[in-house]
Amino acid sequence: DLFYRELPKVELHAHLNGSVSFPTMEKLMARKPHLNIEHGMTAIRSGQRRTLDECFRVFKVIHQLVDTEEDILMVAKDVINEFAADGVKYLELRSTPRDEIKTGLTKRRYVETVLEAIRQCKNDGVDIDVRFLVAIDRRNGAEVAMETVKLAEEFMLSTDGLVVGLDLSGDPTVGHGKDLLPALVKAKNCGLKLALHLSEVPSQLEETELLLALPPDRIGHGTFLHPAVGGSQTVVDKVVENNIPLELCLTSNVKGQTVACYSEHHFQFWYQMGHPSVICTDDKGVFCTDLSREYQLAASTFGLTHEDIWKLSQQAIDCTFAPENLKQQLKQKWIDLRPRVF
Ligand code: 5GP
Repeated sequence: DLFYRELPKVELHAHLNGSVSFPTMEKLMARKPHLNIEHGMTAIRSGQRRTLDECFRVFKVIHQLVDTEEDILMVAKDVINEFAADGVKYLELRSTPRDEIKTGLTKRRYVETVLEAIRQCKNDGVDIDVRFLVAIDRRNGAEVAMETVKLAEEFMLSTDGLVVGLDLSGDPTVGHGKDLLPALVKAKNCGLKLALHLSEVPSQLEETELLLALPPDRIGHGTFLHPAVGGSQTVVDKVVENNIPLELCLTSNVKGQTVACYSEHHFQFWYQMGHPSVICTDDKGVFCTDLSREYQLAASTFGLTHEDIWKLSQQAIDCTFAPENLKQQLKQKWIDLRPRVF
């Protein structure tokens, strides 16, 4: 549907290596034929489902294909161009810096290369503003988390405002947030915005309560925050009191089987309350989706009108980690584009 594609959109929850499209995968596979990786190993097609654990194995396969500066530059530029082609006007990309001993890739070069891709797209005149969130993979523990925060802080202070925050992600069944708390507190104190995956699986209530005390600036998924699914009213109240926006990824949660079906997605719970809820893709490559499609799915599943959808995409601007002047520019862009969309 043209409306959803033309709709100006904000994407706030996109993992770089999960966002790699089919055509980009082809290029990566051609660069590394010896790995014998096929598409079925890097994407979950329509109608297919995997356990969350299987999803995390997919990322390991993709990481084998993306392990040089050249790969990262290509992947990041392709992903940015694809989001722009889908009508995304502001994108916060997130990615976990990696050292790859075999190729000489370092975490610092990793971040620099993503930022280089962002700058090249800007210079090419691609109609999208992009910012970067440095990601912590919880699997790697407290020490790496602290190193990552220091790296993110350095980039935040020394570059042109492209690094705006920190993401906490990775397999939610591994490790405990309490070990990562010192790193997250440090990040918060130095001015990095925090986008944390919280209550993505049912067993994380204690961790969620602990991390909500920070408080984070946005919550990824938050699938099991509310009482009906084993969360708690206290937790919901805390999220509401602090007005912490949720990043909601419908297809990701359905394909990863943390949500039974679209109609049972917790989007409904938060949206009905009028709580800031931002529709996002999570991993458009792995889950074979794009942001237009996610908006359309939200509309068809929950009976939202075009006007509701417009408001939803417009309200996402206030949930970004963009500086105030950029938020104002984006709001103006929405006003200018409205006649074209309706
Ligand atoms: P990258 O950080 O390498 O650009 O993107 C892939 C990584 O993002 C994964 O290895 C994982 O740490 C994180 N990630 C992607 N999708 C999800 C998700 O749905 N849940 C969680 N917790 N982490 C994810």
